[in-house]
Amino acid sequence: MKTLHGIAELRSLLDGERTAGRAVGLVPTMGYLHDGHLSLMRQARTQTDVVVASIFVNPLQFGAGEDLDAYPRDVDRDGRLADAAGVDVLFVPNTDEMYPTPVLTTVSVAQVSEPLEGAARPHHFAGVATVVAKLFAIVGPCRAYFGEKDFQQLVVVRRMARDLSFPVQVVGCPTVREPDGLALSSRNSYLTAGEREAAPVVYRALRAGVATVLAGERDPAAVSTLVAQIIEAEPLAQLDYAEVVDADSLRIPDPLAGNLRLMAAVQFGRARLIDNVGVTVPAPTQGG
Ligand code: AMP
Repeated sequence: MKTLHGIAELRSLLDGERTAGRAVGLVPTMGYLHDGHLSLMRQARTQTDVVVASIFVNPLQFGAGEDLDAYPRDVDRDGRLADAAGVDVLFVPNTDEMYPTPVLTTVSVAQVSEPLEGAARPHHFAGVATVVAKLFAIVGPCRAYFGEKDFQQLVVVRRMARDLSFPVQVVGCPTVREPDGLALSSRNSYLTAGEREAAPVVYRALRAGVATVLAGERDPAAVSTLVAQIIEAEPLAQLDYAEVVDADSLRIPDPLAGNLRLMAAVQFGRARLIDNVGVTVPAPTQGG
């Protein structure tokens, strides 16, 4: 595996690969890698010839007072893990080269960026869409891999790629969890022992929401209230939101129908954790 920092150097290496007919896959990350990130890299390894993973803690997607400076970093360990997962090129750009000041151009995706995480973190998805657009322009991947763990981010990136005609297939990958259900996240490192023990309540609550939909509940408020109550019963959890939304538009269907996603954000001490699960309401049978 090669580790590169400069944009020009990366471009010239990948130009050579593409000229030789090789397909480039991209896995964007903010580093502090865990098995969720590595699952994306392994999938890219099976589907593309040259796997590029990027590590960049993108300042544009952090709001004032968020954890940009505290965000965990360990590039040496990340290098060893990425190498073992089959990454060919680790791209670790410098902030100065990514954002020569001042940044006058940003990419914002309307509607799907607005609810849920977008309501809690107003400039977050413009920061994400901008850095992903830049990475697409720098790397020129034919496929790019994103985790369902950050489901709204996946929807935003898909829409951005389609609206701006990036010649890249956006591939969504399933959420990797701890045995007790907690979704892997770099931010889990903020949890105290007690918070870590409490945190699986989020997945348990989302699963209970799915079960009630499968049992026939079609009122979105009833489902989100059930999820919220389970989370709020945990003293260490501070609920930000629990919602059930359409998996494509991220709007709340009433009554519930089609492909749904139950989404939650919960603060445990210093850690703000997000998670989601999917469920499909079967179409009514004809002719009864
Ligand atoms: P991050 O470093 O948090 O920006 O994440 C980089 C990529 O890894 C994003 O596409 C995330 O959705 C994905 N990812 C993070 N955690 C997980 C997980 N537990 N399972 C699957 N993918 C994940």
